[in-house]
Amino acid sequence: MTTQGLYIRTKENHVETTTLKSKRTTTSTKDHFIICFQTEKHKMGMVENEEIVIVGGGIAGLATAVALKRVGFHARVLERHHELRAGGTALGLAPNAWYALRALGVDGKLTSTHQIFTKTVVTNLETGDTQAMALPMKKDRGDDIGVRYVQRKTLLKALAEELPPDTIRFSSKLISIKSETLQDSSKVTALHLDDGSIIKSKVVIGCDGVHSAVAQWLGLSQPLYSGRSAAYGLSVFPEDHEFEMLARQYLGDSVRAGFIPLNSKEVYWFFLHKSSSFEQDTSMSPELILKEVTDNLAKDFPSDFLTVAKHTDLSTLAWGPLRFRAPWNVAFGRTRNGNVTVAGDAMHPMTPDIGQGGCSALEDAVVLARCLNQAHSTATENQCWVENALKRYVDERRWRAACVVAGSWLSGMVHQGGCGDQQWWSRATIWFRDRYLYKFFLPKLVDFVWTDCGDLGSPVTHGAGST
Ligand SMILES: Cc1cc2nc3c(=O)[nH]c(=O)nc-3n(C[C@H](O)[C@H](O)[C@H](O)COP(=O)(O)OP(=O)(O)OC[C@H]3O[C@@H](n4cnc5c(N)ncnc54)[C@H](O)[C@@H]3O)c2cc1C
Repeated sequence: MTTQGLYIRTKENHVETTTLKSKRTTTSTKDHFIICFQTEKHKMGMVENEEIVIVGGGIAGLATAVALKRVGFHARVLERHHELRAGGTALGLAPNAWYALRALGVDGKLTSTHQIFTKTVVTNLETGDTQAMALPMKKDRGDDIGVRYVQRKTLLKALAEELPPDTIRFSSKLISIKSETLQDSSKVTALHLDDGSIIKSKVVIGCDGVHSAVAQWLGLSQPLYSGRSAAYGLSVFPEDHEFEMLARQYLGDSVRAGFIPLNSKEVYWFFLHKSSSFEQDTSMSPELILKEVTDNLAKDFPSDFLTVAKHTDLSTLAWGPLRFRAPWNVAFGRTRNGNVTVAGDAMHPMTPDIGQGGCSALEDAVVLARCLNQAHSTATENQCWVENALKRYVDERRWRAACVVAGSWLSGMVHQGGCGDQQWWSRATIWFRDRYLYKFFLPKLVDFVWTDCGDLGSPVTHGAGST
């Protein structure tokens, strides 16, 4: 339904009008009502009110919106691009991600079309030795839980389908944040967007990725450069590729690469390497990136890897520096201020070495929605229940996230033979990697990925976000 002269009434009886065309969607709680809308056009200086705003429509943002919806809150998602991100090829989703997806109610859509991978085969390029490592897998509450590889766009679509059609406001880039205190001493956050409009919200969740503006506003440290870069892409074989459905990895001095068939025609590949001049990496055209990988960096790799790389769909090819937030900053930094917090890469950017960034983002979503749900259900006259919920959320998440960031960095460092240029250190790390990494370190990690973040709690009617 399209309406003119839309109004929004909040708890404070603050009424705002707009003369823009808007789509009316949801309404009504016991003491106030809110009309949520998607404006077709936004005007400079126009002020809108939302109860909960999620900045960023990536994995963390959409999963958080789905989780909140399942417990009865409505959240608006702001995404700077005009559509959901299709790039980024594929993600390995470990058991902890599937537990989170189960809590979100979207696992069934993906498990029926994505098989479990039971092993990864690792080839040492210097010695030629090959080791097979079993991947975690078990039956849990009747479901087969294990590692499945899912295209990023498939995951985003599965999450977005769960949301009312107007939830995501595209082409809405957050550029600055201001905090205001209302007469009743509650806090409201003003989000200034690049189209000149302002959104005032009582809860702001920054899911805006590694270069998060919300994390910056909170005062978290800038992500650090790991000294390594990654190239990754999706290869398409018009005829079937005929590779066995298992994950393959290649370890060399300073490089780590691999490929994973997603189905009979598509194969996801990645190539991680030490690089001191990452500024140059990001400015290269896809053709040059591919040439650099196949004709230079990976020219001595096994023919299977080169065959896969040469079939890359260039529109999917990306190359960028790998960054992470210092684990102590994740653990002790300000991940919340009043009613503002962060989730996903905005909170804990990490190197992709143990494939946990997206999995952790899904866990964040479930824990955050559960904390808000529980705090709201038990709230009496406590005006600070949102703050309490967000405090509980960051307390629950920060240590685990800090450990995953540290574990990812450590795993990457060991896999690629140290982080400096000293030969002795590199040799020692490779010695450790070849003897102990797969025997001791990675099995410990397997325990870690079996963590179930739990469910969302009983759905309660919070109306359109009764904060
Ligand atoms: C090579 C590589 C391989 C990986 N492999 C795996 C894997 O196998 N398994 C795994 O779990 N993880 C993996 N990851 C990590 C995973 O991709 C990330 O952790 C995950 O994408 C984080 O999701 P997010 O939603 O927090 O951030 P993002 O995916 O970065 O999404 C952030 C969103 O916010 C939007 N945004 C940013 N700024 C603004 C703004 N100012 N205003 C509005 N919108 C904004 C962006 O456009 C984007 O849509 C890998 C990463 C890399 C680089």
